Amino acid sequence: MLRKVCRVCGSGMIHWPRHGDVDYYCEPCREFTEYDELEMVPHCPDCDTLIIPCASCGSQAYFCRSCRVAKSSKKVVWKPAPA
Ligand SMILES: [Zn+2]
Ligand SMILES: [Zn+2]
Repeated sequence: MLRKVCRVCGSGMIHWPRHGDVDYYCEPCREFTEYDELEMVPHCPDCDTLIIPCASCGSQAYFCRSCRVAKSSKKVVWKPAPA
């Protein structure tokens, strides 16, 4: 999954409309920082397993097959996809 990642702190950027344009904001930096678009894959915050988007539990949730529970997208750990 293509993610916009802050060049300064490595956090995911937040979609942020600004001046009629669409921009991306970094919450930890509190700035519109430079970012890279990287191919990232979601991992479980609790057991570190690769997790999948959960269609039946809302667009912002992911399901861990190992924990057998849905994880909030806010807690998902994003790691660079293997090359
Ligand atoms: Zn940042
Ligand atoms: Zn898990």
